[in-house]
Amino acid sequence: MQSYIARHFSKVFDYIVLGGGSGGISSAYTARKYNKSVAIIEGGKIGGTCVNVGCVPKKIMWNASSIIEDLHIADSYGIQANYTYNWKKLKDAREAYISNINQSYYDFFAEEHMDHYKGWGKFIDNNTVDVNGEKLSAQHILISTGSESMLLDIPGKEHLKTSDDFFSLESLPKKVLVVGNGYIAAELGGLLHSFGSDTTMLLRGEQFLSIFDHETANVLRKSMEKSGVKFLTSRRLVKLTQKDNIYLAEYNTGEHDTFDQVYCAIGRSGNIKHLSLENTSLHVQDTFIPSDDWENTNVQGLYSLGDVSNKVQLTPVAISAGQKLAHRIFGNQKNSKLDYSSIPTVMFSHPPYGMIGLTEEQARKKYPQVKCYKTEFNSMFYGLTERKTPTFLKLIVAGAEEKVVGLHAIGRGVDEMMQGFGVAIKMGATKKDFDSTIAIHPTASEEFVTLT
Ligand code: NDP
Repeated sequence: MQSYIARHFSKVFDYIVLGGGSGGISSAYTARKYNKSVAIIEGGKIGGTCVNVGCVPKKIMWNASSIIEDLHIADSYGIQANYTYNWKKLKDAREAYISNINQSYYDFFAEEHMDHYKGWGKFIDNNTVDVNGEKLSAQHILISTGSESMLLDIPGKEHLKTSDDFFSLESLPKKVLVVGNGYIAAELGGLLHSFGSDTTMLLRGEQFLSIFDHETANVLRKSMEKSGVKFLTSRRLVKLTQKDNIYLAEYNTGEHDTFDQVYCAIGRSGNIKHLSLENTSLHVQDTFIPSDDWENTNVQGLYSLGDVSNKVQLTPVAISAGQKLAHRIFGNQKNSKLDYSSIPTVMFSHPPYGMIGLTEEQARKKYPQVKCYKTEFNSMFYGLTERKTPTFLKLIVAGAEEKVVGLHAIGRGVDEMMQGFGVAIKMGATKKDFDSTIAIHPTASEEFVTLT
């Protein structure tokens, strides 16, 4: 009865999008291209994690810390660089940049006639949501509400900081502990260290970046260690106690140490807490709303994509999945779906780590015949400098035709090197194709086409 009333007294749209992040906005916009009426509902800051507390502010901080790294070696090029940095100026400039992006989204919604609702959308039934007391219904509802940092469940967990907190820092902490072993831990640890924090990485296992290509991850670890980052492995944080502004971190080994801040980067859980999912028949797995290759959930007309679907937690993946879904639902493109294979990605560590496709560990499980071509060297940029950052390039090929199934690279500039290789690999490039490509000299990337 309640859902009958809800549906009959609601504003009806063709498409409701819950979550105004990258995936939701791209899908809503694509639906508008088909002249469909769209409501986009977001309770937090528009633009989601990527714009507000993820890719965008992270890249700005990475750019700043990379400039500092270059200043350390400028002298080798005969350039005098006695620098100081102004954290507040950087933070203010970064926030102004992001506010502009936020505003541009609002302008965009108005221009494109998308109805934007600021608030948390709560399901009343499978077709109806309530936002700030207003009822909206649609035959098609997308859930793209993103994710949030998970915290360790330990005594003192309220003292743990997350990557979100990093972006609120008013000044640089002197000594930090970073717990975790993925993209965010490596990026945060690298950033904090490059700005000048005494940084320790805490891993519960032995292998750094255990889900990445191990050999490449080991090169990164060695380079980070050489630059001064400390690694504590096979240890778990079991307790955190605050005394004044210092935190005592206790490990399961009985060891302990004190830090100004302790960051937790152990993965992200789905943002579902505002959705009132109990009013739907949606299947929930942990905190995620699973969807199939077509972004369909178990309920017809309800879709999930991006972080909350727990497939691949990457902005461009959500954007593409959102577009493809809207083409399928509204553009009569029956076969429109995202191909989740060979996704290129870059981790903005110091140095950056780019990867496409499989790790060596995954390739060996999948294919009977696997070969790796690799090289490690100091790029010409470090030819004059005493401090050197390694470049490591690795090509993983499978089968007699040597199809490239994985490409991994660490070093200066690899972040801008990946996209083109991503195209080649998506097109099915083989080692022979790489070999038949003329090198661009002198670059680090040329080594990819001269590997033996
Ligand atoms: P990830 O899932 O990438 O890595 C978290 C790691 O932390 C795990 O692999 C695990 O490694 C370790 N871990 C898990 N639980 C615990 C625990 N209880 N105690 C100690 N360590 C633990 O999560 P992130 O938070 O780093 O990133 C989330 C997602 O965000 C990524 O998957 C990525 O897709 C995305 N992202 C992408 C970026 C980019 O493209 N540049 C940047 C930032 C995020 P182990 O098992 O070895 O201990």
